Amino acid sequence: MAKLLEGKPIAERTKEDIKQQVASLGRPVVLASVQVGENAGAEAYARSQKKVAEALGIEYRFQKLPQDTAEEALIAFIEELNSDKSVNGMIIQMPLPAHIDYKKISQFILPQKDAEGMHPANIGKIVFGRAVILPCTAAAVMELLKEAGIDLYGKEVVVVGHSEIVGKPLALLLLEKFATATVCHIGTSKAGKLEEHVRAAEILIVAVGKAGLIKGEWIKEGAIVIDVGINRVADKIVGDVEFEAAEKRASMITPVPGGVGPLTVTMLMRNVVAAAKLG
Ligand code: NAD
Repeated sequence: MAKLLEGKPIAERTKEDIKQQVASLGRPVVLASVQVGENAGAEAYARSQKKVAEALGIEYRFQKLPQDTAEEALIAFIEELNSDKSVNGMIIQMPLPAHIDYKKISQFILPQKDAEGMHPANIGKIVFGRAVILPCTAAAVMELLKEAGIDLYGKEVVVVGHSEIVGKPLALLLLEKFATATVCHIGTSKAGKLEEHVRAAEILIVAVGKAGLIKGEWIKEGAIVIDVGINRVADKIVGDVEFEAAEKRASMITPVPGGVGPLTVTMLMRNVVAAAKLG
């Protein structure tokens, strides 16, 4: 039976470290958070970010703009935050109204204030092994692997999902650690090759958003399984991997919820502190 890889104790340790870094900076650290329009989900997420930020000594400055805010007006607001010396980092809450293009507006955030680590300049630095601000979920997976003492050197690591926020940056971070990283996606599934790749994985990381996509019987004996997926099935939150069957074959596996999730917001705060040190 696999050992559970729980994110919460790791998040608690990392938060303690962040708290000390904030205190030793000896000046206020501020995260600005911008939401456009009404969205209960985004608001709940912002509330939980605020709670974590404040527990670490980071000021959380939340601003809600009207639903009909034009793209240009949002860009102007971002530029105001860019030039506000009291703001160290910023986050734009998702989802945005349909008339706003996130990829366009996020490029106006100064890279050194990009708390989510999604600015092309920060993504580009990963390629050169020079990143200090990282995409939060990809960083959360790397932190989990590091804290669990998993050596990535030369390992067959299969990432399922190639999104900009998880799979793609994660593949680059894994290469940095000399893992043999294979990235699978919808094309792999359509070509009927997903099972074959998953069966070969010594470390499997799944970030798709489809409950039960990865069959328990596909897991290699002794593999390490990190399930990033979050799916609501009959009022329960589950990952993308068939947990009960997978835990019988894996040596370590993340629970969902309670695996990667608790670390993601912690990585956001770590980025804010890194940003404060840059500014
Ligand atoms: P996304 O929709 O942007 O990307 C999904 C990826 O899955 C794509 O690369 C796509 O090609 C791939 N895919 C889709 N169907 C597939 C199939 N049948 N076979 C193989 N690959 C397939 O999703 P995302 O934003 O990267 O999020 C992925 C999952 O991770 C979601 O469940 C999301 O809720 C979760 N998530 C969790 C956290 C966390 O903190 N734990 C953070 C971010 C996202």
